[in-house]
Amino acid sequence: MTTIPTATRQIVLASRPHGAPTAENFRIETVELPAPAAGQVLVRNTVMSVDPYMRGRMNDTKSYVAPFQIDAPLDGGAVGAVVASRSDAVPVGAHVLHGLGWREHAVLPAENVTVIDTDAAPASAYLGVLGMTGLTAYVGLTAVAELRAGETVFVSGAAGAVGQVVGQVAKALGAGRVVGSAGSAAKVERLRELGYDGAFNYRETSVRKGLSELVPDGIDVYFDNVGGDHLEAAIGHLNRFGRVAMCGAVSQYNKTEPTPGPRNLALAIGKGLTLRGFLVGHFPDLAEEYRTRATAWLADGRLQGDETFREGLDGAPQAFIDLLEGANTGKMLVRL
Ligand code: NDP
Repeated sequence: MTTIPTATRQIVLASRPHGAPTAENFRIETVELPAPAAGQVLVRNTVMSVDPYMRGRMNDTKSYVAPFQIDAPLDGGAVGAVVASRSDAVPVGAHVLHGLGWREHAVLPAENVTVIDTDAAPASAYLGVLGMTGLTAYVGLTAVAELRAGETVFVSGAAGAVGQVVGQVAKALGAGRVVGSAGSAAKVERLRELGYDGAFNYRETSVRKGLSELVPDGIDVYFDNVGGDHLEAAIGHLNRFGRVAMCGAVSQYNKTEPTPGPRNLALAIGKGLTLRGFLVGHFPDLAEEYRTRATAWLADGRLQGDETFREGLDGAPQAFIDLLEGANTGKMLVRL
């Protein structure tokens, strides 16, 4: 018989960072674990996600998602196995996806977990290529940028969790040329293996030069994960009626001062550009469509999602810190 744990370890916010987060901003603690009440399940978390948006939640500022609170546990995507259940809908042994990461065990209402099929894909895939980051790539390309067959696509942060999927899905949807930028030679090489037509290392080549060399005829869609110099260069390089899916601005998340906008924004007028921000959560209706299509693309080899694993809850803060510095290829995850 499995013993039901009565305590667990979790990570709380010890202090708010100024600039890049450090280990001192996090604290690990052991807390009592309540037995599940009626309708609840107890999950042994096996893998948790660290994501760039969590950096914003470490600030005490109003945003689309509530800030983390000092001395309170962090949260975020996680997968695990149900070890105790008081819900008929989610039995013991089920593998589930939920939002209480940053801890080894979670007790939560069964309605807040999604049962996942670990025969179809490893549980970790539901945090990446089949999960939130994969869906972000899909909605950005389809609903936001309205990608059409034959168009040229540029993706920044291309070797990350969202970026890897953007390039491959763009190809699967019939894009013409697809190019990306990333922060190391190894990442650039990996992008070519994944079917990108070209890629450059933005730490060695300016974005403007990289685009001029790889796509001299311009781009139709820019999928922006980075902001800053990438966005400015892309605006300069977009063709008439080009579209920007404004997904993220990771180059700015650790900045301590407000960052200036692109200096060439007025080019959007003459070119008739559309710059559209979005959150994946704005498009819940596309989740099932994406899951079905992505499962088929994974099966026929058109889609792959790399994973970079760190080990243990103690390693989670450093995994998050390193994610913002580019230590990951594909999805950054922590095995618990
Ligand atoms: P990634 O896996 O892409 O990890 C972050 C990456 O950012 C790093 O690997 C690093 O790669 C890159 N990076 C860090 N600093 C810089 C910089 N100064 N300039 C350029 N690149 C930098 O994370 P995700 O795939 O999870 O997220 C990608 C983006 O999408 C983020 O901006 C995130 O906030 C956003 N996002 C938005 C969502 C939405 O609903 N709108 C949902 C999910 C994510 P490198 O080595 O190449 O520098």
